[in-house]
Amino acid sequence: MENGLRKPSETTRKVITCKAAITWGPGEPFVIEEVKVDPPQKMEVRIKILFTSICHTDLSAWQGENEAQRAYPRILGHEASGIVESVGEGVMDIKEGDHVVPIFNGECGDCPYCKCEKTNMCERAGVNPFMTVMVNDGKSRFSCKEGKPIFHFLNTSTFCEYTVVESACVVKIDPDASLKTMTLLSCGVSTGVGAAWNIANVKAGSTVAIFGLGAVGLAVAEGARARGATKIIGVDINPNKFIKGRAMGITDTINPRDFEKPVHECIREMTGGGVDYSFECAGISEVLREAFLATHEGWGLTVILGIHTSPKMLPLHPMELFTGRVIIATVFGGFKGKTQLPNFAKECMQGVVNLEEFITHELPFEKINEAFQLLIDGKSVRCLLHL
Ligand code: NAD
Ligand code: ZN
Repeated sequence: MENGLRKPSETTRKVITCKAAITWGPGEPFVIEEVKVDPPQKMEVRIKILFTSICHTDLSAWQGENEAQRAYPRILGHEASGIVESVGEGVMDIKEGDHVVPIFNGECGDCPYCKCEKTNMCERAGVNPFMTVMVNDGKSRFSCKEGKPIFHFLNTSTFCEYTVVESACVVKIDPDASLKTMTLLSCGVSTGVGAAWNIANVKAGSTVAIFGLGAVGLAVAEGARARGATKIIGVDINPNKFIKGRAMGITDTINPRDFEKPVHECIREMTGGGVDYSFECAGISEVLREAFLATHEGWGLTVILGIHTSPKMLPLHPMELFTGRVIIATVFGGFKGKTQLPNFAKECMQGVVNLEEFITHELPFEKINEAFQLLIDGKSVRCLLHL
């Protein structure tokens, strides 16, 4: 029963009954219920989730922000860590007892995207917010006690004591690493740090602006600081975020509500014409426009990390791109999860990124509604739920 993991012989190839936090409708409180979790099929892995945290993407999905993506009942959650309970046929690289983090943007290793070094997309297991079932048979591995299927979410569905995922969405982590902090690599921290390293390739001595200082924005700050950026401007409408921000690499702060003029004008004044890199981590189209205009003409690069509600379009006129500014977006910070995350985890263990700072709250799984409220109220960066 070490770490709460049942002995393999008790559960392997059997249906497991355990607790999950189910979403029954947009914005309806999570209900902790008993669910049945099927054994993993071919190329699938069943994981005992030990920790899960809450990302803004879970919040948006729970609120049903994108109507076309709604599906209920559903098990949300995609930032987590745990221990492999059993693996399905054909899984060679993962075994029972491995310490792992699930990744919502998988890497099958075989498709044209996985074989191309320019992208971290994946044909089989890449992120797909419309996907609600497993690839193998188009069915769910979760069901209610009465037998009604429960939908999957973002390849991961971590608000459950046990989950089944594609093996392409499982990353093995050094067993010496603290699973608590490794949880953050499952989404927010990898996304932010990866955006600074893999997508923007922030250079030493450069200037950076970050719009939205949640875990994703703060991870960009950590990534930019580690690369030697000298000015890192944090923009947020919640001034409480600046305290954490200053501890994590932010050198200057701006609350847009304190100024009459647009933020991009303030930033251009502070930096002699604009920043080298700007990161949108709020998922708001007006903010994206400010982020874009805050970059320097000629070379400024804007990276979109925030998830924007449909049917919003880019808030730019094509002519505005003739100024030489570039705009790009990234999923999971450009990391190819299976091949690159283990090394990033090592770097984090060596202290390149301070993961502890991101965990502002810890609660038992049963208090998931409270944990969501902390994120809604802007009080938490990441609240870690213990399963
Ligand atoms: P969060 O809620 O913790 O942080 C968002 C921050 O934005 C908050 O601090 C909030 O105060 C701030 N904000 C809100 N309105 C603002 C405004 N007008 N100007 C400036 N700041 C403002 O969220 P998070 O978990 O850090 O996620 C951030 C975004 O990144 C979300 O849209 C999320 O869906 C997205 N995301 C994308 C990826 C990806 O792979 N691209 C991965 C994870 C999360
Ligand atoms: Zn996320």
